Amino acid sequence: MEQYFDGIAADKRSKILEAELTIYECEGEESEIKEWFKTINIAGVPLSPQELNNAIFSGPFVTLAKEEFSNSQNANVQKWSAYIKGSVNRQHFLERALDWVSKGNITDYMSSHRKNTNMNELKNYFNSVIDWVSTTFTDVENEMCGLEWGRLYEEYHKKGYDSKKVSDRVQKLYGDPYIKNRKGVFEFVLGGLVDTKLLNVRVFDEATKKSIYKIQTDNAKTKSASNCPHCAIGHDANKAKIWTINEMDADHVTAWSKGGATQAKNCQMLCKTHNRVKGNR
Ligand SMILES: [Zn+2]
Repeated sequence: MEQYFDGIAADKRSKILEAELTIYECEGEESEIKEWFKTINIAGVPLSPQELNNAIFSGPFVTLAKEEFSNSQNANVQKWSAYIKGSVNRQHFLERALDWVSKGNITDYMSSHRKNTNMNELKNYFNSVIDWVSTTFTDVENEMCGLEWGRLYEEYHKKGYDSKKVSDRVQKLYGDPYIKNRKGVFEFVLGGLVDTKLLNVRVFDEATKKSIYKIQTDNAKTKSASNCPHCAIGHDANKAKIWTINEMDADHVTAWSKGGATQAKNCQMLCKTHNRVKGNR
């Protein structure tokens, strides 16, 4: 419950007024001040990195920035929370805003802007990122929270996106049971559906690999051909080679990106060389 000093009992007021404080007065350069705060920070609830920076670089800029980004009464906080993890009070939103505008050099940025009496650049850049994300991805998904939106904005904001198409793609990928990393869906879509590594697509399990290996190998032996179907149709020395299971990798006959399932009927074992060749296509 919030209370005001005037509203509390006189004995409690005097307890506060008469409490002895330990005050450190530190003078020095930035690095010296930093060391001071690190030392003080050992006791009690440790300050977050941004809380420390706010103390070290205190001044008009931090005061203004906190009014915007560290104010739980700010009506935008709810919107920001869809994309940024953490709490307003522990300075996580301010930290993100500074991280984005400074491209990761928060302390340099705070140091050079310390005496500034406006924070337009910080605020405008932050709003540009948030506006871009919220107009590009019209559906808000849980996995969007905490992504590197600053980096994604820098990399992709100049490309135009059709938000309807983007939304359809995201929904389709969200419905795909083979995608293990949904957090990767957004960058995958921004990048034009190319980098499947972002999605961590489910791979074939060991039992499936073993059973397909056995079928292929038994079959190959009856024909005196290689158990790698690509080697078998070749003309080199490996034409009749029987690879061990450790020399082979599981391959999607129809690629996942073309709708191929991660199921036994879409699995074939290829020698490592041929699997790599196919994978790089
Ligand atoms: Zn092969």
